[in-house]
Amino acid sequence: MALPIVQTGHPVLRTVAQLLTREQILSVEIQSLIEEMRETMRAAPGVGLAAPQVGQSIQVVVIEDDAGLKTNMSQEALDARERVPVPFHVLVNPVLEAQGDEIIDFFEGCLSVNGYAALTPRHRTVKVTALNEFGEEFTTNASGWYARILQHEVDHLNGLLYIDRMKTTSFTTMSNKVQYWD
Ligand code: ZN
Repeated sequence: MALPIVQTGHPVLRTVAQLLTREQILSVEIQSLIEEMRETMRAAPGVGLAAPQVGQSIQVVVIEDDAGLKTNMSQEALDARERVPVPFHVLVNPVLEAQGDEIIDFFEGCLSVNGYAALTPRHRTVKVTALNEFGEEFTTNASGWYARILQHEVDHLNGLLYIDRMKTTSFTTMSNKVQYWD
């Protein structure tokens, strides 16, 4: 069942989320939350969702990107964003480290700032170490759009939103973005 997504202004989005132990990750509660977060992300639809966005102040993120299959994004636009499909996966207690100095600006939106977008600078390449849904540690190296998703979701766990990092004068409704800026 898809869960309601909390909107900006809710204090849970401005709270540093709690770390989980391996035992907690394996609990029925967290396993069902992960399942519900997957359904919520797919229903939205979105390419990432952090637990605070469904009102849970814990360090859980789900990510899945079909690379525009549903949005019919052009190949040119996908290439510019270095956007490739990312299969469904779960990150618990993620630790993110920027790799290199390259910063890239693209329009970014958030399910918790519904209906808006803005140019948001992000590191092109990052390295993230996290636990998966089985409590096993893994490391992922990411570039381009996947790196952007990771930075956006890890920000959520630290009480940050893209609007804290955006180029403020680019802030736009989604419909004006499509009409004037795409
Ligand atoms: Zn978001």
